[in-house]
Amino acid sequence: MLLILHPHIDENSAAFQQTWAYLAALPNIRVQKHIVQGKAQRLTEIYLIGDTAKIDRELIEALPAVERVVRISEEYRILGRHKDERRAIGFEYNGIQFDQDRLHIFAGLCAVDTKENVEAMLKALSAQGQRCTRMGAYKPRTNPYSFQGHGKGCLPYTFELAGKYGIKVIAMEVTHEDHVEQIDTCLEQTGRPTGVMLQIGTRNTQNFELLKAIGRQAKYPVLIKRGYGIPLTESLNAAEYLASEGNANVIFCLRGMHSSFAAPHRNLVDFAQIPVVKRLTRMPVGIDPSHSIGGRDRSPDGLLDLFHATAQGVIAGANLILVDFHPEPLKALVDGPQALRLEELPHFLEDVQIAREAYEKRRRLAKTAMTI
Ligand code: PEP
Ligand code: MN
Repeated sequence: MLLILHPHIDENSAAFQQTWAYLAALPNIRVQKHIVQGKAQRLTEIYLIGDTAKIDRELIEALPAVERVVRISEEYRILGRHKDERRAIGFEYNGIQFDQDRLHIFAGLCAVDTKENVEAMLKALSAQGQRCTRMGAYKPRTNPYSFQGHGKGCLPYTFELAGKYGIKVIAMEVTHEDHVEQIDTCLEQTGRPTGVMLQIGTRNTQNFELLKAIGRQAKYPVLIKRGYGIPLTESLNAAEYLASEGNANVIFCLRGMHSSFAAPHRNLVDFAQIPVVKRLTRMPVGIDPSHSIGGRDRSPDGLLDLFHATAQGVIAGANLILVDFHPEPLKALVDGPQALRLEELPHFLEDVQIAREAYEKRRRLAKTAMTI
């Protein structure tokens, strides 16, 4: 059971104290508090966990601090929708709003290699009015002898250049909680010229200790990839780990399924599940067409498979696109074969726009059709 308290409730107030005392005395019930800091208001949610079937809903609703009660299903306690359309969806970070309606593009380097390439990438994004990017500093690699990323050494110039080109959010994978510390320290030292969205890679989706550590910090939002060859429900539960530790500013990213049926693509495109994730949870949903397709093959109609997959995700309502670009893909140290070239950026953005307009039109049509 979920209790939503009156907005901006003061925890020292008599109403809160009285409510909390009543709840804490309920037998066989664990009481868990969760704060939701929205743009305009601060909400306190209280979860009653355990044998809630016997609890009298009307008594709970009558408690002085309680605004309303929502019955929740077992799955995705915090991130789930639970048939309640009134709870906030999404969050704001560094001046940018992320939710289940908007679309943001995070085009950038799979892995930072040189300062020159970072600058060329950011300059191209800024020329197109983009405010988000992806930049990998810590790379989880299948082969231990492959380039592992420059780590904290590349953070100062990456952050400073992002600031110079007006980039507000960088999606950056972390594979250890120490990396969060390194990112935070470097952002502080460079005067916070930009922001970071911590990315959890597909191989770490069920690294529960990492999830808990990242969930305990609330400074940086998290982009969590669908897990490697595991059911969707397990990946959504992994996202819930972050929220259960306190950080519900989470974006869920589909990146294709690890499967031999994917060939000749790298992973089997799973973007038809965007509406499923939106229905089950309140998370914005991203797509990573680069790691799904894994190459630059072009179909007879002139479009790269990568463009087709992106459009499929956007037309199904994707809220974020994570996509690899590189100034010189042949020289990229990670995933060069799937990188788009900087000259392709305007074409890519226009193609996304076409798919987005089609999605918006489809949404309007569905609304009209439902009222008939
Ligand atoms: C990445 O986005 O750089 C990446 C490694 O993706 P994934 O974890 O989905 O393989
Ligand atoms: Mn990659």
